[in-house]
Amino acid sequence: HEMLDTNFMSGILLLMTSQSFTAIAPSPVTVISGDGIGPEVVAAAVRLVDAAGGRIAWEHADAGAEVFRAGVLSGVPEATIASVARTRTALKGPLETPVGFGEKSANVTLRKLFETFANIRPVRELPGVPTPYSGRGIDLVVVRENVEDLYAGIEHMQTPDVAQCLKLISRMGCQRIASTALALAVAQGRTNVAVATKANIMKMTEGMLQREFASAAEKYPDLETWHIIVDNCAHQLVKAPEQFEVIVTTNMNGDILSDLTSALVGGLGFAPSANLGNEVAIFEAVHGSAPKYAGKDIANPSAMILSSVMLLRHLEQFEAAENLEQAVLRTLEDGIHTQDVKVGTPVGTAEFTDAVESRL
Ligand code: NAD
Repeated sequence: HEMLDTNFMSGILLLMTSQSFTAIAPSPVTVISGDGIGPEVVAAAVRLVDAAGGRIAWEHADAGAEVFRAGVLSGVPEATIASVARTRTALKGPLETPVGFGEKSANVTLRKLFETFANIRPVRELPGVPTPYSGRGIDLVVVRENVEDLYAGIEHMQTPDVAQCLKLISRMGCQRIASTALALAVAQGRTNVAVATKANIMKMTEGMLQREFASAAEKYPDLETWHIIVDNCAHQLVKAPEQFEVIVTTNMNGDILSDLTSALVGGLGFAPSANLGNEVAIFEAVHGSAPKYAGKDIANPSAMILSSVMLLRHLEQFEAAENLEQAVLRTLEDGIHTQDVKVGTPVGTAEFTDAVESRL
């Protein structure tokens, strides 16, 4: 009964939202083209969002390699920070981390500045994209802590021959990522949430996430919740990925596991993501700038397009989101692929984008 009521209520809410939004002004969104293949795949996503009926006022802003070269040590200029602070929503291309100049990663700057503590990385089996797992119904989300852990940036030379990197884990960080994963499971109608940790070795840091997750899960008696050691999680993901629905984990483990899960459904060219904080949400592909493909009309824009579908849902523009997502799925189902899908004759980024647009 509880389930029925919830579905009924969210159905009503959806209906009310989609009607009341038609009269409302377009949502402002900061768009950052990024480096390498970024400009090509971001342009494709922006064009398709507009064509799919998304009501967005795009604010273009810079970040990444060019900005580092211009001497901004964080890789993110003030104007970009101001834009994201104003719009609270961004669609971002991949940002290269230049080696040898610049102070740190522009991605890490954005994540820390806007405290986007949850990185949501969904993957699901795609029609017409053959993998060794086709037909097994993979449909899972990695919920990765995004601001703590070994990526907090506390790294130094202890002596000329010994380097140290600190693994920083806070109770609040564990609580909010555990709660996000559990709430996401409920919101998406999923029933099973695993916490993947190395708590057997790092009892205080990784152990804190295991304990905080177990405690948060007590409030969700309808969910099946469990702990898995992260190395076994990697093994199980390759052996029987269909057993997972939601996996919550620490920053570095999540970074690695989510590249693995993207390969299960066709590769990085298909993996979208959202970086969520209390105030700001930044949507981007999981992949990087793939410099060897830059400017060659080769890159698969699907990951960036599917990230923009997540953006549309975040803005409660459900009709445009559904329209665009279905057009991508139909394009793939019709056997239209970029070169990363190793079947048939590939098309370029532009032709793939045209094919999606013609299916809207
Ligand atoms: P990458 O994801 O850029 O590329 C790895 C490989 O994946 C590529 O060589 C390519 O074969 C494939 N690939 C990735 N995206 C693809 C697409 N859309 N279509 C087709 N094939 C695709 O990872 P990398 O080579 O390790 O990193 C390159 C740069 O990107 C580095 O400077 C890194 O710091 C940066 N990076 C940025 C982000 C981000 O902005 N979120 C994420 C990861 C890496």
